[in-house]
Amino acid sequence: MVAAFKERLRQINPGYVKFHTLQTLQLNLGDRCNLSCRHCHVGASPRGEKVMGREVMETVAALLTRRPGTILDITGGCPELNPLFRHLVEMTAGLSPRRMVRSNLTVIDEPGMEWLTRFYREQGLVIVASLPCYQEENVDRQRGGGVFGRSIAALQQLNAMGYGKELELNLVYNPGGDFVAGSQRHLEAAYKKELLERYGIHFNNLFTITNAPIGRFREYLEAQGAYDRYLNQLATRFNPDAAGNIMCRTLVSVDWKGFLYNCDFNQAIGLPITGDDGSILKIDDLESAARTGTDLFLAQHCYCCTAGEGSSCTGALAV
Ligand code: SF4
Ligand code: SF4
Repeated sequence: MVAAFKERLRQINPGYVKFHTLQTLQLNLGDRCNLSCRHCHVGASPRGEKVMGREVMETVAALLTRRPGTILDITGGCPELNPLFRHLVEMTAGLSPRRMVRSNLTVIDEPGMEWLTRFYREQGLVIVASLPCYQEENVDRQRGGGVFGRSIAALQQLNAMGYGKELELNLVYNPGGDFVAGSQRHLEAAYKKELLERYGIHFNNLFTITNAPIGRFREYLEAQGAYDRYLNQLATRFNPDAAGNIMCRTLVSVDWKGFLYNCDFNQAIGLPITGDDGSILKIDDLESAARTGTDLFLAQHCYCCTAGEGSSCTGALAV
């Protein structure tokens, strides 16, 4: 039996189960994606029907105007496939010191997306791109046939535009199965060597992200009879040094309808931030959701954030 995650954190420091300060607003533009990866925690696919609309985006832009130091982290699904993606990016220009887009890279060569890489550059977006391995067979097994080759071509195109040099390009590694990532520093060195030697690719940082046992990845674990073993593994590898740095202490996640969550994983399992009266908070309630000392909504899947070196949307937490 795995101990309750929240209690485990509280025992180390009661402050660790509470919100600290808002640094990052993460927007999930919906579950539409050109891929259908095996580990996808949001269950995204080309059939995704959740699509963030104009009203939520405009509220976000107004919020950024009032909170000018807030980092904007744009994710999905495949955020670029939201028909209002360009509108959102143009509307938030100059309102945030750092705007990140989580790209699956393959969207770059989809028909009708020829404008995309130039647009990234013109808008000065930071690219955070999924590449779960530098070996073709591992990427294609996890993400689908041909994805590795398309990703490499996209990275070369981004490099040619200055990404990985004067513009920031970060890659995301996630384990290809039910295990915890190794050292982020060592993996980054291996990625840099292999991608440069084989394909001439440069990038800035590698973020290691542990798979959360939810969504399509949970279904996969259950089909293998490996769910309990994986959760146990995460709990056994609990790292107290990562515990105080869990990203939900400084990040709020917004879904396509404007509802608020402590992170994208909570969003995927339908565990929203609620107010004192039990109502689900929306983007207009951000000030109360992001108040210092507010309780976080934590559950057992949270062990993915504290295993090994820890894990967050910007990589390891205790390196
Ligand atoms: S993991 Fe990313 S690229 Fe793969 S289906 Fe999910 S949203 Fe799309
Ligand atoms: S899964 Fe989300 S809520 Fe849980 S510890 Fe990680 S960031 Fe926080």
